[in-house]
Amino acid sequence: MILSPGKSPSRGRASIPRMPSLHDPVRFMAGVGPEMARRLDKLSIRTVRDLLFHVPRAYRDRRLVTPIAFLQPNTEATVLARVVTVRVERRFRGRRDVTATIQDDTGNRRVVWFNQPFVEKALEAGQSYYFSGPVEPFHGLEMHNPEFEPADGGEAGEDSSRFARVTPVYGLTQGVAQRWLRARIKDAVQSLPGIFDPVPEDWRRGHGIPSLRQALEQVHFPETPEDAEPARRRLALEELLRVQIALLYARARHRSRRAARPLGRGGPDAARFVEGLPFTLTRSQGEALGAIQGDLDREEPMRRLLLGDVGSGKTVIALAAAVRAAGAGAQTAMLAPTSILAEQHAATASRLLPALGVPFALLTAATPAKERTRTLDGLGSGEITLVIGTHALLERNLEFRSLGLVIVDEQHRFGVRQRASLAEKSGGMEDAHLLVLTATPIPRTLAMTLYGDLDLSILTERPPGRAPVKTELLRAGGVESLARVLAAEVEQGGSAFVVYPVVEESEETDLKSAVAMARELGRVATLNAAGVGLVHGRLKPEERRQAIDRFRSGAARILVATTVVEVGLDIPDATLIVIEHPERFGLAQLHQLRGRVGRADRAGRCVLLVGRETSQVARKRLEIFKRVENGQELAEEDLKIRGPGELLGTSQHGFPDFRAVNPVADLDLIEAARTLAQEMLSGEEARGGAAKLKSWIEAHFEGADRYLQSG
Ligand code: ADP
Ligand code: MG
Repeated sequence: MILSPGKSPSRGRASIPRMPSLHDPVRFMAGVGPEMARRLDKLSIRTVRDLLFHVPRAYRDRRLVTPIAFLQPNTEATVLARVVTVRVERRFRGRRDVTATIQDDTGNRRVVWFNQPFVEKALEAGQSYYFSGPVEPFHGLEMHNPEFEPADGGEAGEDSSRFARVTPVYGLTQGVAQRWLRARIKDAVQSLPGIFDPVPEDWRRGHGIPSLRQALEQVHFPETPEDAEPARRRLALEELLRVQIALLYARARHRSRRAARPLGRGGPDAARFVEGLPFTLTRSQGEALGAIQGDLDREEPMRRLLLGDVGSGKTVIALAAAVRAAGAGAQTAMLAPTSILAEQHAATASRLLPALGVPFALLTAATPAKERTRTLDGLGSGEITLVIGTHALLERNLEFRSLGLVIVDEQHRFGVRQRASLAEKSGGMEDAHLLVLTATPIPRTLAMTLYGDLDLSILTERPPGRAPVKTELLRAGGVESLARVLAAEVEQGGSAFVVYPVVEESEETDLKSAVAMARELGRVATLNAAGVGLVHGRLKPEERRQAIDRFRSGAARILVATTVVEVGLDIPDATLIVIEHPERFGLAQLHQLRGRVGRADRAGRCVLLVGRETSQVARKRLEIFKRVENGQELAEEDLKIRGPGELLGTSQHGFPDFRAVNPVADLDLIEAARTLAQEMLSGEEARGGAAKLKSWIEAHFEGADRYLQSG
């Protein structure tokens, strides 16, 4: 609850007299209420803290008021002027624009608000206002969609100088206006409770960073634009600290656990498995396997992340680890994000494992009841050494005879929270060694932030003999042009994916367009002869598997798919991937998709269909994607463009939702936060021991270990 100071614009809303807390829902703030709270939720603003950390995306320097005669085209300006006329003008398709003529001592200008009819009511002819916005070279010069505020300060009691200075510009959403949000944030800043700053003062001084309280004031309402950046960095540090503390805390808690079983000796071992492979490991595969074996020898449970581009060969390394565990008489659970992938791993296992006598089973939602029972029994008795399945494996109360290793593939699908919960949940898993595989290209520093509780192995090279993938941008042009591209590929003996993004908000329509496209393509004679398959999330597992199998075997050489093909599918013969609405994907996702082809000796092609409506910014992003082939490099680019919150896709539950962190400008802070977190924790541990640690974290970093709870 924000206690509104006496003269704030809240009207008639009773305040509850208790200390406001950062964790109070915004709903109870003066001037918000349930409806606005719902809208704020779209900006991920749920608590007062969220609101305070909603840092401006830009600032307007309104200290300078420009006389109308001095306005320059293509600039942002603030003028102080009187409204001469104001009216609504009807445009085509029911659109209504508001135009006004404004005047000061030096001249007059037209101002237009496009499709914001309500502006007319807010302006009164004869009154003076500050107008602030872009000056455009139309009809001579005019201002477009400026923000405005009465020159006399408007609402009673408001500071009349408020408008004419450095003003924050916030990211908005439907139904949340700039002025409204600014006022709420102002309320929140003014009624800040005695806020605890966990960062020691000398440390702050050393880094030229203000206190948390100052930072919150200055990031939103800086005296000068230059004051804003150090303030933002203080907030960024706060966010990074929270994550680091949570991760280090998890690590500490984990270390204090009962020892795992060392899985170092006996039976068929990893070396024999590696010798039996039809290829030699790459250098980084060898290093990763070495590190894993070292971990497995220890009593401290392994917590390792194996990060490698699509096709870099993570699966074999994972299987080698499972063989090693089997050698020591321990069982392995291998979790895949989709049943298709689980099946693929099982297929790989059935090629590579029988020679070594490692009995394994596949367990998915599609497994028939009888087989399921047999598998469950086998796991209980220890007859089955490796079980491969989806993460339904976790929810079932699986009984293992002696589970020693858990492998999670394509970890980002599960999210950070699930990863942590993995170790917590399920019979016996807590002491198991954990190996996480991910193909999501992440810059090293960010990996440190996100996976600070894990040790890191990176596969830096692709296995030899892989042809590169050529990326092209083509103008999206309906079925005919797509059919032409596909027919050409098929004629040359290739086979192709056509990928549709299915976005949650428009799931029905997206799905329909994928289904319709598959049907349309099937009507084209050449394509029909080559076979057109369809796979999407709503199909039954059996149907999905059939579609994939037909594609794998070449019975269907075209596969129209929603993003289920995104992760890990290994179909060496696919030569082309066509992506519809590529602008809806992140670069990392696109890169994963691109990694689906060109895996055999034949060069791959990736075609992005770029629609007319694709924005300039999006096009630029796609150009970068076309140019940059390396996953890590692309990750850096993606990070610059989109920020870490979106890097892994927005559906990441438990992904730290940074608001203030600018991963490009704050790389130094990431490291600093880690050191600082270490100092803070070790100081605390020394003082109070591990038991006090948790309550200390909860007191000062309330919510920080939310990242670690299951979602
Ligand atoms: P990832 O899971 O990292 O995307 P996979 O483990 O599925 O990659 O490997 C992709 C393909 O490359 C598989 O067909 C695998 O057998 C093959 N492969 C793995 N390592 C090597 C290697 N060192 N040399 C040649 N081929 C390899
Ligand atoms: Mg894989």
